[in-house]
Amino acid sequence: MSFTPHGKHIIAGEYVATDQTFTNKPVHGPVSHFSVGTAELVDRACQAAEAAFWHYGYSMREERATFLHAIADEIEARAEAITFIGSLETGLPEARLQGERGRTVGQLRLFAAHILAGDYLDRRRDAALPERKPVPRPDIRLLQRPVGPIAVFGASNFPLAFSTAGGDTASALAAGCPVVVKGHEAHPGTSEIVAEAIRTAIVKCGVHPGVFSLIHGGAHEVGRELVEHPLIKAVGFTGSLAGGRALFNLCAARPEPIPFYGELGSINPMFLLPAVASRGEHLARGWVGSLTAGAGQFCTNPGVVILIDGKATQAFVDAAVSALATVGAQTMLTEGIASAYRAGRDRMADNMGVYQLFTSSCEQRNATPYLFATTGEAWLANDVLGEEVFGPLGLIVTVKDLGELLLVAHSLAGQITCTIHMDEADTEAAQNLLPIVERKAGRILINGFPTGVEVCDAMVHGGPYPASTNFGATSVGTMAIRRFVRPVSYQNLPDELMPPDLR
Ligand code: NAP
Repeated sequence: MSFTPHGKHIIAGEYVATDQTFTNKPVHGPVSHFSVGTAELVDRACQAAEAAFWHYGYSMREERATFLHAIADEIEARAEAITFIGSLETGLPEARLQGERGRTVGQLRLFAAHILAGDYLDRRRDAALPERKPVPRPDIRLLQRPVGPIAVFGASNFPLAFSTAGGDTASALAAGCPVVVKGHEAHPGTSEIVAEAIRTAIVKCGVHPGVFSLIHGGAHEVGRELVEHPLIKAVGFTGSLAGGRALFNLCAARPEPIPFYGELGSINPMFLLPAVASRGEHLARGWVGSLTAGAGQFCTNPGVVILIDGKATQAFVDAAVSALATVGAQTMLTEGIASAYRAGRDRMADNMGVYQLFTSSCEQRNATPYLFATTGEAWLANDVLGEEVFGPLGLIVTVKDLGELLLVAHSLAGQITCTIHMDEADTEAAQNLLPIVERKAGRILINGFPTGVEVCDAMVHGGPYPASTNFGATSVGTMAIRRFVRPVSYQNLPDELMPPDLR
């Protein structure tokens, strides 16, 4: 199976080429050329999305559920070609891409079931009280309505599950919002084939073509124009802290500010409480597995371990070092991400009070693991140690006692996850730690590892800044739909005017 991209944008069902092109950077094989996005195309896609909203935003939930299933079917129909181009462009192993495709179609089908169940509409009614004194109460009903066209930024690290037809797109389409995707330059061919799947589903289901557009990048201008476009009503983003913050600021500075749902950086700390000393070696192996999976390019990568200095510390360190020694070089998603990883390693190594436990040598697009250590005292004195290094790099923070461990917890910035490893004997310590990490993280795990995020109703994938720019939201799981709806109250509406979902 092979796939050769045509390299065009897909704007409201039409293939559009632009004069300027950029190339993808496949790990091996020939490069393909892609049209660079422009401000004019952004405008065209947004105008089409707005036109589509007047149909799609008022469609029945059953129609949208059918459409979501059709997209999933079309992705499955292109399974092998998606894996082919995906692994070529990103260097991710085929098995990982197959798993990610399963997650992507699973998300689409989950949102179909979710909107059919209808709980997300949060329907409320305060019936009229005409006899109430001193003033009668009108009939008031509440319903969640879609907000309008959504901009989605494809993520580099999940070419399928967080990209063209990923969680942001699936939840926006489920809500009734048209989507304009800005493809990520790391995998434009993968974006193209998935966009083709959506385009085919649109035709088969008779949906308005403006419901979906894919604009390739190639210029910063595209992202900027998209978030500043007056017809865009919210943004879904996964990426770097710097990029996300720049786009967030643009959204806030618009004449009409809009919500920017950015999922940015996280170090996903893991706290080891005293009683787990007996299984330190086992934990170290588990940690290394989670830390190095997918070359450490997960937003839930547990980059930092905090443990209380004691007899078991060395056994944990030794086991981690020997597990890391068995991890070979892995191809990173882009040369830019690989060089950012090496810069992060150098930043870590340059810190006073930080020493290397495991070193390796990586170059070009390869990542090999690194392990550093520091003390609670040094951590508390240096904010830089809390910055994300995107890749398989770990830091062990050894603290003097539980008091210092709690201070380290207090010092943390917002996190997507915090993990506590404990035994029954640690219950009291964990009771002290839990309220602190609860203020820091979107998801708290006991005796687990944070990579491998379940897509389900109870999942929160977000957290206080900089984990995300909106701690009331999640980008994984069915609650993600809330980002793209807003409550409207209907007071004294006659039945003929009542939205069908409230009748
Ligand atoms: P990125 O640089 O933030 O880019 C993500 C998207 O935002 C791209 O489409 C990019 O467009 C756009 N963008 C970024 N800055 C912009 C600006 N100032 N104006 C307009 N558009 C802008 O992220 P990335 O390319 O995925 O990876 C780079 C780094 O991000 C990684 O090394 C890693 O540190 C971090 N990352 C973190 C996570 C996480 O989950 N925590 C996930 C992925 C990446 P252009 O193509 O035009 O640049």
